[in-house]
Amino acid sequence: MKNYLIIGGGIAGVTLAHQLENRNLTFDLVDNCPKYNSTKVAAGFWNPIVFKRLTMSFNADILMAKLKDYYPKVEQKLGTKFVHNTPQLKVFSTKEERHRFIDKAIVSEVSQFLDEEPIEKIEGIKAPFGMGKVIGTGYIDTVEYIEKSFEYFESNGSFINKKIDYSEIEYTPDYAGFSGKKYEKVIYCEGYHAVHNPLFPELRLKPTKGELLILEIPGLSQDFAFAKSAGLIPLGNQQFIVGSTYDWEDMTEDSTETARKKLLYNLSDFLELDYKVIDHQAGIRPSSFDRRPIIGKSSVQVNAYIMNGLGTKGVMYAPFYSDMLIDSIEKGIAIDEVVDYGRMV
Ligand SMILES: Cc1cc2nc3c(=O)[nH]c(=O)nc-3n(C[C@H](O)[C@H](O)[C@H](O)COP(=O)(O)OP(=O)(O)OC[C@H]3O[C@@H](n4cnc5c(N)ncnc54)[C@H](O)[C@@H]3O)c2cc1C
Repeated sequence: MKNYLIIGGGIAGVTLAHQLENRNLTFDLVDNCPKYNSTKVAAGFWNPIVFKRLTMSFNADILMAKLKDYYPKVEQKLGTKFVHNTPQLKVFSTKEERHRFIDKAIVSEVSQFLDEEPIEKIEGIKAPFGMGKVIGTGYIDTVEYIEKSFEYFESNGSFINKKIDYSEIEYTPDYAGFSGKKYEKVIYCEGYHAVHNPLFPELRLKPTKGELLILEIPGLSQDFAFAKSAGLIPLGNQQFIVGSTYDWEDMTEDSTETARKKLLYNLSDFLELDYKVIDHQAGIRPSSFDRRPIIGKSSVQVNAYIMNGLGTKGVMYAPFYSDMLIDSIEKGIAIDEVVDYGRMV
């Protein structure tokens, strides 16, 4: 009997799988391999700062420490590169914003992440008030992370490409049965699809559609990501991601003309170079009602667990909260109540 069955191979399920392997626990990971899911579409950026207030985002210090430790080790294990440490330039809209950034860079809880010296000019960027540099930011190439992980798990006989119907899993007091195999526990990492999961009736997700574009922008520096009314992230080969939109009404996974126009309009606020749109993608973020992750156990089925609610911050949340969930199951260590599934029960 294997220890775990993980259902869903986005960043939540894949990260859980690596973390289980790190502890010598056995598992099968099942994913139906859609062309796009929230993880494959994601820009994959991490940033510990909330720009609006220039404060730390939720638990940023511990999440960043875990992220910096976890992803490079997986890169090594898989023999690939998907972590890109890329500083971000905040393009200032006003003189006041510039002064506030410099003040916070000199003394504040976030000063370790802000450079005191503003950057005045980058070719192709409209920045009459200059730009503030955020240090310690970067992005994960999520497609590379997921695809190389699937290949690795498949080569170890622990990956199954399939869409599971809830009725296919048979629960007994001692194990869960699926496809002729037995597992001690099941962890559901289904992203926004979890809204239909009968084992988590109290789950309060607020799925949020997001769209982004891939652009080719000849002549723009590849050394920085940029943030103003849109975010711009360099991918190499003169390509950049421009993102992202937020939509709580349209729950289709189709890309829309409205989002494309909005993104390009926002970009025109600070980009003054010509570009070509080369791709347009959409996904549904599994955001939670209170914008915190959701981990814990089912209230109606023993041995069924969930990891969800990663919202806009899957890259920062996944390493730390997958560890917390495993600690709670394997060692009985209490889950932090602000992220516990039990807060909704
Ligand atoms: C446009 C956009 C931009 C984003 N940018 C960022 C960013 O810059 N930084 C960041 O940190 N986050 C970003 N995000 C958010 C991030 O993508 C999410 O937090 C994260 O991907 C959620 O991962 P997940 O594993 O919970 O869900 P998903 O990625 O949706 O994965 C769930 C998987 O489970 C599979 N599944 C579900 N049910 C079953 C079943 N019954 N059987 C088999 N398989 C099943 C699904 O098909 C899917 O493959 C962005 C999201 C979008 C849409």
